[in-house]
Amino acid sequence: MMDPMIILALIVLVVVALIGERFRRTGRRAEWLRREGMPEELRTAKLVASEQHYRCQKPVALSGTPDQVYRLPEGALVVVDTKRRPRAQVYDADIAQLSIYRVLLAAQKAFRGQPLAAYGYVRLVTPEGVVYRRVELWDTARVVVLHRRYWALRDGRDTPTGAEMAGLCRWCGHRERCGLAR
Ligand code: SF4
Repeated sequence: MMDPMIILALIVLVVVALIGERFRRTGRRAEWLRREGMPEELRTAKLVASEQHYRCQKPVALSGTPDQVYRLPEGALVVVDTKRRPRAQVYDADIAQLSIYRVLLAAQKAFRGQPLAAYGYVRLVTPEGVVYRRVELWDTARVVVLHRRYWALRDGRDTPTGAEMAGLCRWCGHRERCGLAR
């Protein structure tokens, strides 16, 4: 039979190892949070979906895969989407994308009756680090108008008008093949 002192020493070693691992994990998370610069409300929120694909037919047919959906402590769902950019710039296309995700989530059975924040976050990964930009989202009516315009352009029932401001074209990802670029 094993000496009780040896058993006690083994237990102490295991406990110390477990505590050490817990401290290491806490330290790693603190370091990650420091580098990430995550808004305070997201730090205390619960992650409820990550890269999950959603579809809906109403109010219009949409599909998409938000990077993350968080539930804030007070209950509202917030969408976060990551973009890798040379600088921390948010475009209308980002706001449109997050707004579509919000409409998509509202149509899901799993989230029925749950409040959706009127804003979301674009998580910008730049050479200088990570930046979270809070953006106010478009309402459902605007998303529906956008959807109809998109399909009208795709089907040739409407013609593109180009950007209102030249500045929008400067950083546009479609600039190279767009005949309306300014
Ligand atoms: S380059 Fe073309 S698609 Fe991009 S913002 Fe300008 S007009 Fe719009």
